[in-house]
Amino acid sequence: MKRLGILGGGQLAQMLALASLRMGIKTRVYAEPGSESAASVCPDTVYGEYADVKSLGIFLDSVDVAIFESEFIPTKYLRDFKNVEFLPSLNCIEILQNKLSQKKLISGLSSPKFLECTESKEIFLQKCSEEFNGKCVLKWATLGYDGKGVKICRTKDEIMNSSDFCDQVLKRNGGLFAEELIEFERELACIGVRDKNGVTKTYPVVVSEQDNGICSKVFGPADEIGVANTTTSRVSEIVKEIGERAEIIGAFGVEFFEKNGEVFINEIAPRVHNTGHYTQDAAFTSQFENHVRAVLGLPLGLTLVHSSFIMLNILGEKGEFNYPKLSSNFHLHWYNKSEHKLRRKLGHINGTGKIEDLKREISAFKLFK
Ligand code: ADP
Repeated sequence: MKRLGILGGGQLAQMLALASLRMGIKTRVYAEPGSESAASVCPDTVYGEYADVKSLGIFLDSVDVAIFESEFIPTKYLRDFKNVEFLPSLNCIEILQNKLSQKKLISGLSSPKFLECTESKEIFLQKCSEEFNGKCVLKWATLGYDGKGVKICRTKDEIMNSSDFCDQVLKRNGGLFAEELIEFERELACIGVRDKNGVTKTYPVVVSEQDNGICSKVFGPADEIGVANTTTSRVSEIVKEIGERAEIIGAFGVEFFEKNGEVFINEIAPRVHNTGHYTQDAAFTSQFENHVRAVLGLPLGLTLVHSSFIMLNILGEKGEFNYPKLSSNFHLHWYNKSEHKLRRKLGHINGTGKIEDLKREISAFKLFK
């Protein structure tokens, strides 16, 4: 069996390592200093920066396949290592780590109209305020996550007062653009997984809810909670098309906005994704196991679910974590982070059963005291 290396040491790496362990596949982890989640389950974790090419080289020499928990990896440090298979490929990661190159990749598919900043920020903001009639979303092209790097503007004044937001990305030579503000009814998401033969399977479409830019809950399957079958079929088709165009190998997440039965692609992540965590308890094969199967050239497992489901993210709050009394259809997944910073993702709870019952139960949880 090939030796598997995971680049990154957070919760996604932790859950990939756990899925591999269960399958009898040994993993090694290369973690950024300070990350604890993967190390808590994978004894073979080494700490290092990507710029430390000596440590990185020793790590990469010891694995056959290297996978990523984040697309925000400086690929320039990896290009010289020819004896390891990076999956998805470094080209694929480079396209998808930049929201502007994502836009080029999905051209012709439905996504919010956008305007790239190619002149001074003053001219750009002026153009945005005219073109989008005072309503737009400013975005950094790179290194944004959990709402960081996204500014929703609802008035011309808000747009014109966004100089600081622009500077934060421009001063590190990152791209900047504005998007049409979609007054969506719901946010949808779907996990795809593409194998080495180029076959993409999709998991059910889900509805996701955000709390100030951070995913807080996921419910599904979407067509059991009021999303039209035509919409979910369209979403699955788009996900398959994206898998093909980007030549992704492994699991990937695509987020959408739904408005009047129409869907708009929001963003693509070439990795296991928060909106797919429910698959651990509701699907026949989790996104983590299927990611590992895909990159090792093993046949993919079923992506069907055996129940409706809910996933609740546990975001850090003031006070101590109060372990909830979970009924039998709930499962807690904990990331073992010692510092419970405000709004930091600390774990999640998956529930399976009837959506109405699940919603009622989670509304009674008091997760911090
Ligand atoms: P991140 O990279 O932080 O996940 P997103 O691009 O997903 O950033 O944006 C975070 C949230 O901001 C979205 O989940 C959505 O609620 C809102 N948002 C982003 N783009 C738009 C848009 N064009 N129209 C309306 N809301 C948007």
